[in-house]
Amino acid sequence: MDLGIDGKVALVTAASKGLGLAGAAALAGEGCRVAICARDPERLAAAAATLPGEVLAIPADVTEPGTPASLVEATIERFGRLDILVANAGGPPPARALDVEAGAMRAALQANLLTSISLVQEAVPHLRAAGGGRIALITSIAVKQPIATLAYSNAARTGLWGWAKTAAQDLVADAITLNLVCPGLHATDRVVELGSEGRMGDPTDFGRVVAFLCSAHAGFISGAAISVDGAGTLGLL
Ligand code: NAP
Repeated sequence: MDLGIDGKVALVTAASKGLGLAGAAALAGEGCRVAICARDPERLAAAAATLPGEVLAIPADVTEPGTPASLVEATIERFGRLDILVANAGGPPPARALDVEAGAMRAALQANLLTSISLVQEAVPHLRAAGGGRIALITSIAVKQPIATLAYSNAARTGLWGWAKTAAQDLVADAITLNLVCPGLHATDRVVELGSEGRMGDPTDFGRVVAFLCSAHAGFISGAAISVDGAGTLGLL
């Protein structure tokens, strides 16, 4: 299926490997011009070299307060427009709920809640100027079923989901969709680091789901949290 996004411009954050890179690769494969960021410049450059078409690689820590604005600015400067935002960041460390510490909780809220909100706020004027757009926020199935060993992630991501639900309503009249993409276990370095086991999803397939949500055909999917989890969660909502 042609996703109808050939020539569109996409910004994908935290995208030198794993799920972010898979999203960027799927979008680039559909003909998007893609801007990607990550902190390690060498790995970022190597990732950019794997993507087809025009790619802008911006070494940056997306969780720094000024970075969302500078990423959007650099994308506009290079490509002249912005149509698609895929907001991603690294995940917080494991912790059970009663063991959380305030500093680490603040870091998680900064990385996995406030950064995504800032990216959306910075991107929206440009999506409006483009006549519409697509926003996908990479989160976790924790928004549907909190994970007992990932208390920081649970707090930050459910907060983002609450915010996103109403943001989507505020954007729908502008033909901008906003959705969460909620991975279950996928075979990335993050999962290996956390020592997870069980049936795992393929990041490439996850990236294709991201690209579909950013496609011309997904214009009436908004305010949704789409699970990509191989039936990993049991909640009915
Ligand atoms: P990953 O394989 O570890 O990749 C993380 C990517 O993000 C790398 O490119 C990394 O590059 C970049 N990154 C990390 N922190 C960054 C920062 N502060 N600024 C800019 N770039 C940053 O992780 P993943 O498995 O793809 O996970 C992506 C997100 O999905 C995470 O939030 C994770 O918690 C969530 N998630 C993953 C799974 C899964 O099964 N994989 C399941 C549920 C949720 P640098 O280190 O060079 O910056």
